[in-house]
Amino acid sequence: MTPKFTCETIPLHSTASDATFEIDVWRYFHPDATKTVYLQAGIHGIELTGIPVVHEFMKEIEANQLAYNFICVPLSNPMGLDSQIMGVQTGYNNLHTNQQNCWNWNRIGNLKDEPSQEGRWIKTLLDLSAAADIVLDLHTAGIETAPHIYFHKTEIEHVTGLGIPHLLSWEIPSNSFSDTNFQRGKVSLTFELSSSRSVHGEWVKESLIFLRRFFGLLPKVEGSKIWQTETQLKKWYSPAGGILCWHKDAGDAVTEGDVIATLYTRKGSLELESPYTGVLLLKNPIHAPHERQELAKFLVE
Ligand SMILES: [Zn+2]
Repeated sequence: MTPKFTCETIPLHSTASDATFEIDVWRYFHPDATKTVYLQAGIHGIELTGIPVVHEFMKEIEANQLAYNFICVPLSNPMGLDSQIMGVQTGYNNLHTNQQNCWNWNRIGNLKDEPSQEGRWIKTLLDLSAAADIVLDLHTAGIETAPHIYFHKTEIEHVTGLGIPHLLSWEIPSNSFSDTNFQRGKVSLTFELSSSRSVHGEWVKESLIFLRRFFGLLPKVEGSKIWQTETQLKKWYSPAGGILCWHKDAGDAVTEGDVIATLYTRKGSLELESPYTGVLLLKNPIHAPHERQELAKFLVE
């Protein structure tokens, strides 16, 4: 009998207006599997690329009869996905529960034991991933990013060779979904895939290649660079309010002192110089920043 995915729908949440949200859990069992994989996307409602990636990769799992068991949740946060204003995703907040306090839904340490809807939701995802040996959580970062991955330093063998340009090694726990699963003894990785306000078909293809390499459907490649999250990942803040006009793309190498953006304030224009030498890793979805609003993240040499 050829293994195929089957789908179970789990009720998650209902709102004051009685709108209901559900998650679909897709399971695939291979008779020769020795490992179980939990593959999830969309835990942050504005991060869309991973959702089509999981759907497409499920087709490849079946077509190649991959000898793993899989538990796939392509859309792990339907409430976040459904939160938008005039077509702009706002799902770090949750309009449906009136949660406007910017809880980060990936920081589950403070959510999983809550008797709230959010707590029950994150507990559901943790319970679903409990059976897995390998947890892959697909995110995107910012409005524009160079693909990267967060891994614990002991997981280096699992992230090298995938062709992901930047590998961010962490040591200090962050209570993320992946980190929590790492603490439970699993291989557990956070992928940050290419992103924007929209989803480009090329980014889905690029991300599928990362997964094919992870599962041995494609040979490993060289070319990733390893960085230390705690010391080499730096945030950058706006010196004033204004309109931000970028002169660099995510992934570009930058040198301290380079003019990388122009900020048009009420009083005129300010040339913004790179505070670091390294790589512009990602741009935040901020176009008209307030003073001291975070604009971008850098990887610094
Ligand atoms: Zn995310």
